[in-house]
Amino acid sequence: ENLSKDFPVEFDVFGRPVKFLRAVQDVSFTVEENTVFSIVGESGSGKSTIARILCGIHKPTTGSIQFMGTALKGSGHREIQMVFQDPDSSLDPRKTVLFSIEEGLRIQKMGSKEERRKLVLEILKAVRLTEDVLSKYPHQLSGGQKQRVAIARCLVLRPKLLILDEPTSALDVSVQAQILNLLMELKREFALTYILITHDLKVVYHLSDHTMVMYLGQVMEMGETERIIQDPLHPYTKALVAAIPTAGTDNLNDFSLKGEIPSPLNPPKGCPFKTRCDFAFSKCDEKPPLIDFRGRKVRCHLYAEV
Ligand code: SF4
Ligand code: MG
Repeated sequence: ENLSKDFPVEFDVFGRPVKFLRAVQDVSFTVEENTVFSIVGESGSGKSTIARILCGIHKPTTGSIQFMGTALKGSGHREIQMVFQDPDSSLDPRKTVLFSIEEGLRIQKMGSKEERRKLVLEILKAVRLTEDVLSKYPHQLSGGQKQRVAIARCLVLRPKLLILDEPTSALDVSVQAQILNLLMELKREFALTYILITHDLKVVYHLSDHTMVMYLGQVMEMGETERIIQDPLHPYTKALVAAIPTAGTDNLNDFSLKGEIPSPLNPPKGCPFKTRCDFAFSKCDEKPPLIDFRGRKVRCHLYAEV
């Protein structure tokens, strides 16, 4: 609810912050249990900052989070876990797979040594890895195996919500589909809810129920995924959808939008998308509100609430 996050970027001689970067600006959304909610946008859109706020790495500057009926406070929550883009960043190269998967259980002081081993073996099976990986180190595993270990590390804590931050973009294309299929199987098996952060609108289309499109820290459009992809309203969403690679071509994992995303340090006045929008007109110098339009939310002066 109304999440904002400012990062200090300039300090005076006393070390006091004098300039801030507004990474996330007044973002509100609801994720229904057992669904997949996608957050889409280019780098600098604020999507990873939201992920880090939700799992307690960052404290929001304003706003609040309700999780299953109670306000989330402080850092970290067992029932909310995050799978990072690059499995190498979540696995310690000097620790065995067993150590890594079991670590959260030890920190949470869950179970005896034998019970923990049993839980680890169960999760290992769930992510389709065999027992022989337990004594291995990350460098002895393939990229796909490492991401399975990173997923197991989260799952062993029996979370309700998994935040997936570009979970396949560091992997070979051939492995990406395997990991996505595994994630969808695990979602059913463990009754999980996902927040999926990605560049890849094809993945969004196939996997998610609802989608939020972000640009320079603000929500541009939000609603049912199918409707957003079939009939995008916001000019930014239209450009993203137009850039979805068609079957047989490589997914460039990049949007072919004209121009560069402006610096979040110096965002355009009025509509943040103004500098790249084919539809911009005089009114776009004023900041458009996020309105309800045909059952979804959109922030653009081309649409008016009726
Ligand atoms: Fe384009 Fe104006 Fe809509 Fe912004 S408000 S997306 S500049 S038409
Ligand atoms: Mg990111």
